[in-house]
This record gives sequence, structure tokens and C-alpha cells, in this order.
Amino acid sequence: MPTYARFPVQIVKGQGSELFSEDGKRYIDMGSGIAVNVFGVADKEWAAAVSAQLLKVQHTSNLYYTEPCALLAEELCKRTGMKKVFFGNSGAEANECAIKAARRYSVKKYGEGRSTIITMKNSFHGRTLATLAATGQDGYHKDFGPFPGGFVYAEPDSLDSVKQLAAENKCCAVMIETIQGEGGVVPLSDDFVKGLRRFCDESDLLLIVDEVQTGNGRTGELYSYMHYGIKPDLFTTAKGIGGGLPLGLAVFSEKCENALEPGTHGSTFGGNPVCCAGALNILSRLTPDLLTEVNRKSDYIRQELSGADGVLEITGRGLMLGVACKKPGKEIANAALEKGLLVLTAKDKVRLLPALTIPWELLTEAVDTLKTCISEVCAEE
Ligand SMILES: *Cc1c(COP(=O)(O)O)cnc(C)c1O
Repeated sequence: MPTYARFPVQIVKGQGSELFSEDGKRYIDMGSGIAVNVFGVADKEWAAAVSAQLLKVQHTSNLYYTEPCALLAEELCKRTGMKKVFFGNSGAEANECAIKAARRYSVKKYGEGRSTIITMKNSFHGRTLATLAATGQDGYHKDFGPFPGGFVYAEPDSLDSVKQLAAENKCCAVMIETIQGEGGVVPLSDDFVKGLRRFCDESDLLLIVDEVQTGNGRTGELYSYMHYGIKPDLFTTAKGIGGGLPLGLAVFSEKCENALEPGTHGSTFGGNPVCCAGALNILSRLTPDLLTEVNRKSDYIRQELSGADGVLEITGRGLMLGVACKKPGKEIANAALEKGLLVLTAKDKVRLLPALTIPWELLTEAVDTLKTCISEVCAEE
């Protein structure tokens, strides 16, 4: 189905942050498959981990244990202080799990009725009906109703707005992205996130952080909530953790680790050992040194682009950056494609989500090309 507005390019192969189309043209990749290929494409270490598991057992169903799944859960909990992991296949599926778990947590403690989840206006949480309902953007809702109920939308960065909705509705949770990705790379303020943590504690609302895009080293911390010095009750992630294979996780703190028992949730492919073996390799390589490098590259991009011809503003954190320009991001992305540079857009901005290990030579080349494109497109009448 023509559900995607694809660029007219067929990618046939690549290495790291360089991709090649079928006509032999070379591209520098500043999108990494939408924050998925954290170590670029055809990464040898990751591919070796995946291939080795493929030749042991590729799938068992969740009726049995597998080592990669168990080790990945253990490593995730060790590095985040969380207690339990549910494995699915995508960001939307991870968020579905979080939504179900938050409601069930509340039912077990307070009985029926406390089922509403507060999300933010301009958020994005996925394309299934429940996660679309959670998404606070009317544009995504048009023509697809009726939606599952139980979502209300607060003004991002307004604790008063959250408190008002919590007073008017019987709520069990608040769900946020620390940086609204699809919403235009818009970060939430430090005060808001810290205040939200306090308010959720006082009201026994679960604080759910959607780390599908921001997670796995993308913003310069392992998970983006870590920048705020808070701990969510539940977070979800996908995209980068799978490194290119489908994997989505809901990760539970002690507070809600007993929300779901046998029979209450499931996924045939969830926790697939091949995906988990790859993810385990990825997680083991998201080291403090790598995160420092992510922040250095981020600073470099910001320095080069801020004040550059046609650039209005740079938002985001780490290697999740939005560049607002005098012309729509889409026009700049098209011009960049011509010059062998792949960039993404989010709302009207250019969005940059390169591989965390993009080599400096390619990064400087990409930023130079992007500057030229922005300047040329913005100079057009
Ligand atoms: C991409 C994204 C999702 C949806 O993930 P899928 O794997 O496409 O289902 C959910 N939340 C956020 C914040 C995302 O960026």
C-alpha cells in the first residue's frame, strides 16, 4: 500500500554510515533508518552475534526460556535499576504493553475506573489504535475512529495542565517523550519533568517514559530520562535497541513489576532470540566512552549549524537534533538527497539521527553538505 512518501531511491548495500543505491550512487546516512541502526549498516560485530544465534535456534515461542532474552533482560535491569522486561516487536507494541500494565496496576490497587492516561499534546506513541489514541496530534486521528478511550492530552511543559486533567479524570498514568521526536524534536524542560515525577509520586500515577526514539544512547545518555535525574516507573523502547531487527521493550520498576501475571499479555515473536542476541551486543557497546563521543559530535553539529545561513534554531539533544530553517525541512531533505546526503524531517524541521558511531570524516562532510543545501534552498525565491 502506498502508505509511505518514499524518496525515489533504492538502497542496495552499505557500510557504517555510507549507503549505496542500485545505480552506484553513494550517500552519507544521517537518519540511520529513523534512529535504528545505532552502529550503522552491516556492522560486523552485531551481524556476527545475530548470525551465531541464527545457527543455534532462531525462535522458540515464549513457552520456553532462551539465553539471549534472559541475558538482555538482566543487562537492561542492571544498567537502569529496573526489575522486569516485557519483550515485543515494535515501539507501538511496547507502548501497548505499558498502557495495559498501567491500567492493570491501578485496577489491582484501586479497583475499576481509574483508567485514564494523560499524554502530551504534539506527542507520538505509535500507529496502532490505542497508541494513536495516546498520540496527542489530531492529524493522525482523522478518519480512523472510533478509538479506544481513556486518553487526555496535557500541554507539554505545563504541570498545571497535567494537574487539572488529573483532577478532572480518573487517571492511572502519565506518558511522555522527553524529546517529542515526530512532533518536531521538541524537548521537555527540566523543571517540568522533575515536577511531573514529584506529582506522579504524590498521586500514585505511573510515570511512563516513551524512549522508543530517545533511548539506547541516542541523546548522549543510555536512556534520555537519565538527563533529568529521575527514574520512570515504566519505560518503553524499540528502534535502536534492535539495531535493525524488530524489537520493542517495556521495562518495569519495582513499583509495577507485578502488574502483569501469566496470561495477561503476550507476543508470539516477542523476545525472539536472534533479535535479542543482536540487542545484547548493541547494549554492551553503549559504553560511557561512546556516550561522550555522541555528546562531542552533537556539540560539533550545533556549533557548525547555529548561525549558519538559513538556519533559525537547533533543538534536541545528543544525536537527535532538529534544525529549523527558513524553508521547510522537506525541501532541504530533497536538495540533500541530490547531493548524496540522507536527512530526515520532523514537522517543518530537518531531523538528524545519524549512527552513534558515524566517523568524524563523514560527519564533517555531511554537515558541510547540509550547510550548503540549507543556504542554497533558503536563498531561492
Ligand atoms: C517510532 C516511535 C514509536 C513507534 O514505534 P514503531 O516501532 O514504529 O511502532 C513510538 N513512540 C515514539 C516516541 C517513536 O519515535
